[in-house]
Amino acid sequence: MTTDDDPVRDALAARLGEQAATELLDHVEGYSNYPRTVEGVAAWDGAADIAGVDAAALAVVEDLALLGPLGFGVHSDPADRRAARRFWGLLTLAARADPGVLERVLPRFAGQRYADDLVATIRTTAAPAPVDPGPVTARPRHADPDTLVDGSPAQVLRVVERMVDLPWPEPGADDPLQWERDGLEGHTLWLAHVLPLAAGAEAADVAALVVPLVALADQRWHVRHRFDATAFTDDASTDPASYDRRSAPAAMVRSLGAEHAVWWPLGDDAALLVDTSGVVPAAESRAVVLVLPARWLTAPDAEEASLQLPLVQDLLSDDGSRVMSAVWDVLGTRDPEVLEPLLRVLPTIKEATQDLELGGALIANASHVARALDRVALFGRGTCLCTAYLFDQLSDPAKEERRGHVRIVETIPGDGSWVPDRICECTDCGRRYRVEEGLYHYPWWAWTSLDGTEPTVPRR
Ligand SMILES: [Zn+2]
Repeated sequence: MTTDDDPVRDALAARLGEQAATELLDHVEGYSNYPRTVEGVAAWDGAADIAGVDAAALAVVEDLALLGPLGFGVHSDPADRRAARRFWGLLTLAARADPGVLERVLPRFAGQRYADDLVATIRTTAAPAPVDPGPVTARPRHADPDTLVDGSPAQVLRVVERMVDLPWPEPGADDPLQWERDGLEGHTLWLAHVLPLAAGAEAADVAALVVPLVALADQRWHVRHRFDATAFTDDASTDPASYDRRSAPAAMVRSLGAEHAVWWPLGDDAALLVDTSGVVPAAESRAVVLVLPARWLTAPDAEEASLQLPLVQDLLSDDGSRVMSAVWDVLGTRDPEVLEPLLRVLPTIKEATQDLELGGALIANASHVARALDRVALFGRGTCLCTAYLFDQLSDPAKEERRGHVRIVETIPGDGSWVPDRICECTDCGRRYRVEEGLYHYPWWAWTSLDGTEPTVPRR
C-alpha cells in the first residue's frame, strides 16, 4: 500500500509526522484479531509522544471521511479486517484521550455484540494507564483459601520472575514443594512452579486482578502467546514415540477448568497464566500462574523430534544389541526419511557410540558403526550413496541388488580368481562399478568406479 491510497496513514502523518505514523500503524496492525489488538495496544507505551498519539488517534476515529478506510462496511476481505484492526487499535488509544469517544462510536456497530465486548475491554484496559493499581483486595492475607491473592499486579510479576530460580522436587517425589516469595505463597509440582492467584473467587474480582496483570506483563515481557489446551490431549495410553509433550501442561490447564491460557517467555522458561473467570460460574473462578520450561509449551524442533525416533533412540541406548540392530538398518538403507533425521543428530550419535564396547567376531562391531555413520555423513553431502562402496569393503553386490540399490549388469570371469568380477550399475545415479570379490578371514568386495568417481571418505 503506498501513501497515496492510505488516507488513515496520511491523517496520522499530518498530525504526528511520517515516522511516528508508520511506527504507530506498524504496532496497531501487528495483532491477529480484534481482542488482541485492543489488549496489546492498551499496553503499548512505545511512542515518544504518547499523548500526541492518543490525540491523533482520536481525531482519526472521529473523522467520518475515514470510516471506509477504517474497515466499516463488509468485513469479508482480509484488507478490510486489517483496516478494522487498525480501527480498534486506534480507538483504544483514542479512549485514553477522551473516554467519551466509546459512546460516540458504538452506534456505528448497532447489533454487533463483539463491538460491545471490545468497547468493554477498552474501558477496563485503556482508560486508566496500566500502572500498578496497588493491592487488589483489602481482605487479610491467608484469611481464607477461597480468595484472591493479596498482592498487586507488580508484586505478582516480581514473584513470577523470581519463580524461575525455585528448586525442583526430587524425581519421583509425590509431595509438592511449598515456598514463599515476597509474601506470596506457592508450590512446585514436577512440571511447574505454581502461584495461585484466585480460587473459588468472584469472576469480576478475578478479572479485576487479571486484566491489569496481563497489561503489565505485556509491558514487561512483551511477547504474549496463546496456549490452546484442547489441542494436546495425549496421555499415558499414547505411544511414547508420538506423545506431544504439550499434553502435560495442557492437562494441567484443563484440570484448572480452562481451555486456553496465555504465556510469556522468561528466558528459557515461560510464565503461563490460567484464568477461568470468563468460562466458569461466576463465584468459582480461579487464576494461576505456572512457571515452567518454555519447551513444554512449544512444538519440538526438528532436532528434538529426531532424537525421539526409535532408530535414534536405539543408537543412543548404550545397549550393544540395540545399537547394532540400528546400525544394520542404517547400512541397508538409502531412504532419506531414515537418513535425514540421523544426519540432524549425527554429532550426538557419534558421541554416544564412540566409547561403547560392542565386541564383534572377525570384524569389530565398532567399524560397522563407523561405516553406518560415514553413510549418514555422505548422505548429508548430497552424494549418491553408491559412492560409499568405494571405501567400504563389506558391501556385497548381491545384497545391494536385493535391496534395489544396484543392478548386476554383467559378470566377467576373472583370471583364475574363485568368483567372477561383476559390473554393477547404481539404480539411483547410473554410476557403474566393477566389483572384485575376495576372501581373507571374511569375504570382501573391492568396488572400482568405471566412471572415474574417486573414493572420498567422509570426514568424521
Ligand atoms: Zn549412485
